[in-house]
Amino acid sequence: MAIINADITLGILGGGQLGRMSAMAAARLGIAVIIYSPEQDCPASYVAKETIVASYDDQDALKAFCEKTDIITYEFENIPLKTIEYIETLKANAVLPEKTLLDVSQDRIKEKTFLNEQDIQTTRWAAVRDLNDIQATATLWGSPRFILKTARFGYDGKGQIKCEAATLSDDKDLQSYLEETKGHDIIMEDFVPFTKEISIIIARDVNGKTELYGPMLNEHKNHILHKTTMPCDIAETIKDKAFSVSKTISEAISLIGVLTVEFFVCDDGTLLVNEIAPRTHNSGHWTVDACCVSQFENHVRTVCGLPVGSSKRHSDATMLNLIGDDINHIDHYLDDDCANIHLYGKKQVKKGRKMGHVTILSPKTNAY
Ligand code: AMP
Repeated sequence: MAIINADITLGILGGGQLGRMSAMAAARLGIAVIIYSPEQDCPASYVAKETIVASYDDQDALKAFCEKTDIITYEFENIPLKTIEYIETLKANAVLPEKTLLDVSQDRIKEKTFLNEQDIQTTRWAAVRDLNDIQATATLWGSPRFILKTARFGYDGKGQIKCEAATLSDDKDLQSYLEETKGHDIIMEDFVPFTKEISIIIARDVNGKTELYGPMLNEHKNHILHKTTMPCDIAETIKDKAFSVSKTISEAISLIGVLTVEFFVCDDGTLLVNEIAPRTHNSGHWTVDACCVSQFENHVRTVCGLPVGSSKRHSDATMLNLIGDDINHIDHYLDDDCANIHLYGKKQVKKGRKMGHVTILSPKTNAY
């Protein structure tokens, strides 16, 4: 029998909305949360027992964080690996999900290498450094369009550029991109004319039991997730493949925690993994309102040694992100009895900033 120990204090590195919603789920289980964030008044700080505001390389602050917490997790993948390594010198095996996953997901080259080693199909890719490499790869592949991405620290389309094989040598945007990214590793990918972008979220507990959410259909605007629909209209075979790929990844790294897998679905039914994230995900926000146990509760449960909970969906859901100024136009949702509004408490509205989301529920229409 699992005992929920009311004395557990969970430390979360990072204080954004994902940390906030995990802290709220922890509070429901009677688990206290201490947030560690370089940002004063971060979204998670409003719902946590305490927030330590310090940089990720502040060893004194990290020491205090370790002393006050029993288990440590993170809410986004760009926490420096050195921070986790330092924490582990103070507190062995305290950080979950385990750091191999963080290491792999911080670098697109390592990520794709790891996926391909598990026989998981990704877009065709190559590590490139300069225009010569790009031209040579374009010639070798013989395909018309590519995407270049910085290997590290790219998200929401940042550090990416699309280019055409025919105009590589006189593409001014490409020249500026290569200037800006000089010295950084770059990955070149075939441009995939996908028909859908989907994601799966998998939670795996200490006993290896898993629960899956999805596949969710994801639609982006300006590279930022705009809308997630669950369930998505997709062939049963693709759903099964996406589940099995997600399980393979979680088993390959003996996941304890939550992992998100993003896929491209092509016209002919081919499924390609675009990226993985060792954490809860924006495309799983609807699980708070439409599932028995949300992705956030399962994050807390699994890293705290509790059994993973049922991901069963009781309603269909559409999640809409409130980006930037969208937050000033939510009046109609206040009167909508199917709309669940979630705001993150961010004081400053900025273009492209995720300020909140709305999940609209409707009666469940299919079996999964
Ligand atoms: P990423 O940062 O890799 O998730 O890319 C952001 C978005 O760019 C994705 O959600 C896709 O919409 C698009 N994208 C990324 N890679 C490719 C690709 N190889 N082919 C076509 N579209 C892509």
